Amino acid sequence: MFLARRLLLHASRSAWLARQLADRPFLRRAVRRFLPGEDLGAALGAASDLAALGIGSVLTQLGEQVRSRAEAAAVRDHYLQVLDEVRRRRLPAEVSVKLTHLGLDVDRAACQEHLTALVTRASATGSTVWVDMEESRYVDVTLELFRRARSVSPQVGVCLQAYLRRTPDDLEALLALSPAIRLVKGAYNEPASVAFPRKRDVDDAYARLADRLLAQAAQGHARPVFGTHDLRQIAAIRSRAQRRGTPASGYEVHMLYGIAAAAQRTLVQEGARVRVLISYGTHWFPWYMRRLAERPANVWFVVKNLL
Ligand SMILES: Cc1cc2nc3c(=O)[nH]c(=O)nc-3n(C[C@H](O)[C@H](O)[C@H](O)COP(=O)(O)OP(=O)(O)OC[C@H]3O[C@@H](n4cnc5c(N)ncnc54)[C@H](O)[C@@H]3O)c2cc1C
Repeated sequence: MFLARRLLLHASRSAWLARQLADRPFLRRAVRRFLPGEDLGAALGAASDLAALGIGSVLTQLGEQVRSRAEAAAVRDHYLQVLDEVRRRRLPAEVSVKLTHLGLDVDRAACQEHLTALVTRASATGSTVWVDMEESRYVDVTLELFRRARSVSPQVGVCLQAYLRRTPDDLEALLALSPAIRLVKGAYNEPASVAFPRKRDVDDAYARLADRLLAQAAQGHARPVFGTHDLRQIAAIRSRAQRRGTPASGYEVHMLYGIAAAAQRTLVQEGARVRVLISYGTHWFPWYMRRLAERPANVWFVVKNLL
């Protein structure tokens, strides 16, 4: 399992493999399980269906590590359009962005300006911008850009990854901001010096960080979001929240489109706040390889589509 995960994560960074495979019909069929479609219209349609069930959404256009200023500006413009469209359709939807998609590797200052523009628009339209966390080499700069965006408006949140050894310190340093934090386990290939290699250690770290966030939320000092499909972890979080006096409105559970859909509905019926992160776009290969790596058994689904 460990080897399969590493191989899939390695594959996610291969431009050659992406060119070989991304147009193959069997893979395109398989990816549809996690992707309502490649265009924004399909994502908005899925968000509207979820809204009817009492489930909010977070929209993200797939893409990362753009190589030109023009591409980054186009990504910013796209998200500005998404925020306007969400408002026009009165959808309970937020957006999530990767800073390398907004040009972080090309021009850091411009990336900051793009993020500020999105956060400003989100404030005006009653939405929120989430900043994804990418590989560990981006953590410092991501937190720095998040802090600057947070000084513009509270309508911005950042993702923290429980598998990183540094995350408890990062969380403590952010708490003074009363931040919106999306806690996830972590999806990238990282060396053992940087991230816990054993799943059990990652799960334990997740539980400790969740507890810390809930304690802050009980005093109104954080907006925690638990980005996970780990139902045991979610049940523990909910009972800890109850014990701490954090109301169900004080935190949210976010899951990915196409994963644990029945659990999303049950949670909503039980009074939990749930959002689904809906990805769309043509640049899905690296993202899909990470989804396969999270559950290598998903590879059988691809094989079934091939056959
Ligand atoms: C809303 C959201 C935002 C995220 N943002 C980021 C981010 O910015 N940066 C980042 O590094 N990671 C991000 N992730 C991914 C995250 O780091 C994990 O890789 C992913 O959520 C799988 O871990 P888990 O918490 O679901 O727990 P696990 O213990 O891995 O899984 C729990 C159970 O969920 C199910 N499951 C998990 N993944 C899959 C899958 N792909 N297919 C089918 N079933 C599955 C399985 O049944 C599994 O037993 C995000 C995840 C979510 C839900």
